[in-house]
Amino acid sequence: MATYDPNNVFARILRGEIPCKKVYESEHALAFNDINPATPTHILVIPKGPYVDMDHFSAEASEAEIAGLFKAVGEVARQAGVVGNGYRILANCGRDAHQEVPHLHIHIFAGRDLGRMIGKAPA
Ligand code: AMP
Repeated sequence: MATYDPNNVFARILRGEIPCKKVYESEHALAFNDINPATPTHILVIPKGPYVDMDHFSAEASEAEIAGLFKAVGEVARQAGVVGNGYRILANCGRDAHQEVPHLHIHIFAGRDLGRMIGKAPA
């Protein structure tokens, strides 16, 4: 399991060292707009605890933290007004998924037709 880097960009956002466009905060989660949005609505929901990725989080977070993160995702989507037309959630984990920031984050994409799921693997 990867070691948590306390100086990653989302850890710094959680400590208030760099700004974010916050849309939601609870005991266990923070949500803010993605700095480089891929869709008209593109929000990141992160746990407040120091977890590298979904593997780390699912193995070591408390049940309250896990429930808190997933409740936050649903609440953020409701508050953003995207439930009616629909949305997609995605969490990249590790190298093959091209995870860039080593603090677990769940993307919420919405605001346009998102197309189908990922493409087939190359032959
Ligand atoms: P991933 O490839 O799943 O690790 O996605 C990382 C995401 O974090 C990308 O969509 C970036 O645009 C986003 N991101 C990186 N730095 C910031 C930041 N300071 N504030 C908001 N979003 C960020």
